[in-house]
Amino acid sequence: MQVDIITIEGLSFAYQGTEVLHDINCAIKEGDYVGVVGPNGSGKSTLIRCLLGLNRVVQGKISLFGTPQSAFSAWDRIGFLPQGLQLFNPNFPATVEEIVKLGRLSKKSFPRRFTSADSTATTQALERMGISSIRNKLIGELSGGLRQRALLARALVNEPDILILDEPTTALDPETRESFYATLQDLNANKGTTVILITHDSATIGLYASKLLYLDKKMIFFGSFGEFCQSPNMTEVFGPQNQHLICHRH
Ligand code: ADP
Repeated sequence: MQVDIITIEGLSFAYQGTEVLHDINCAIKEGDYVGVVGPNGSGKSTLIRCLLGLNRVVQGKISLFGTPQSAFSAWDRIGFLPQGLQLFNPNFPATVEEIVKLGRLSKKSFPRRFTSADSTATTQALERMGISSIRNKLIGELSGGLRQRALLARALVNEPDILILDEPTTALDPETRESFYATLQDLNANKGTTVILITHDSATIGLYASKLLYLDKKMIFFGSFGEFCQSPNMTEVFGPQNQHLICHRH
């Protein structure tokens, strides 16, 4: 039986008094591949920031691996690929290998020294992403696709149980995007990694994800694509055409 790996109960969140998430409740199970969709500004990134403890939650409860978030410390079990690669400083003076290795720091408490286990894990992550040959290149010299692979290698360097990605394919050309999705699929199917993927691309996410979380400040839907596509409620909310658009490629 699949265990709940993340539970969210009654989560509401406001920035300076303006509520952007209202009463979110859901349980994500081990091995799920959840596509998080919704219009711009619907609170998708905010929800992820709450999960990761980057936004302090005052209303509602979040548990990670069965532990209340306030007591949770095993952050290396969660890999995160943030949004906003366009803003990445091209002059950042670090090589691909260094960037990936830095991902190991979340495993350490003081003193934060690298060991041979860190080097091995780094080498493996570079190999898995097929970027060993560019390990000594500066991150800023890379194309968007390769840079994204390097950052994914960094998110994977601790072999996380959960991988969270915020709009990871926006800057990628279609071919690179497909191979990126294939990598995620492989991790999910063969390593059992739970994947949570934020995307604006509601028309194609059904090709990859097994569950859909549709957010618009409130949780409009959370469940499998099958349930979504057959739900008369969702037909009412989205209209038959939009519902079909989300479902037709699945
Ligand atoms: P999405 O990821 O779905 O586009 P966000 O979670 O980024 O949505 O944003 C939800 C709402 O919160 C938006 O109205 C946005 O303008 C607002 N918001 C996001 N971050 C901040 C912030 N740091 N301070 C104030 N408002 C914010």
